[in-house]
Amino acid sequence: MLTVIETFYSIEGEGPLIGIPTYFIRLSGCNLRCTWCDTKYSYSGGEKRTVDSLLEEATTYKTKFVCITGGEPLLQKEVYPLMYKLLDKEFKVILETSGSIPIEDVPTDDNMIISMDIKTPSSDMVEHNIYQNIELLAAKDYLKFVIADDKDYAFSKSVIEKYPFDGEVIFQPEGGKNLKELTEKVLKERLNVRVLPQLHKLIWGDRRGV
Ligand code: SF4
Repeated sequence: MLTVIETFYSIEGEGPLIGIPTYFIRLSGCNLRCTWCDTKYSYSGGEKRTVDSLLEEATTYKTKFVCITGGEPLLQKEVYPLMYKLLDKEFKVILETSGSIPIEDVPTDDNMIISMDIKTPSSDMVEHNIYQNIELLAAKDYLKFVIADDKDYAFSKSVIEKYPFDGEVIFQPEGGKNLKELTEKVLKERLNVRVLPQLHKLIWGDRRGV
């Protein structure tokens, strides 16, 4: 059984697959407490669901994209059979993880995409980053930094210099909407990163279940 906060069908709001209709599974529980967390309701509670019931629901939306998010989805052991079974059914699975849990047991299938955060200083959670995880990411995966201020920006730059990564590096402004300053800085400094918003927030604001 998995403890699930919510499931919903929406557009992918973050990362290079932004805008694609996706089935979301938000699992309960998080080991971190980021200062700017926008899903505090995922810390506890939720409904018990079997892997099979989630698989069945996923097929009703006619999308090949499933995003497993949280909270921190890797805290629940049954997330692994869930990922394997979704991949068996040829879904493209996006796992959103905080970077604070080892990722070595996540499937390495071509249809598996890991979207991993490195927590920036403004989150107050930097000491939980497991930098060795970056070496386990493949070129199809993403490394995401949520950037609130100059300190976060300098920190993120130093991490990508120290831990080179072939996949997409995403700089996302904290709050998901205020893109101009961050974009101009990235262009000025010729950084090879992708600046992306949280599209669902631009469309619907700070709402749950989208
Ligand atoms: S890891 Fe994600 S869910 Fe957990 S506190 Fe940070 S932002 Fe919130």
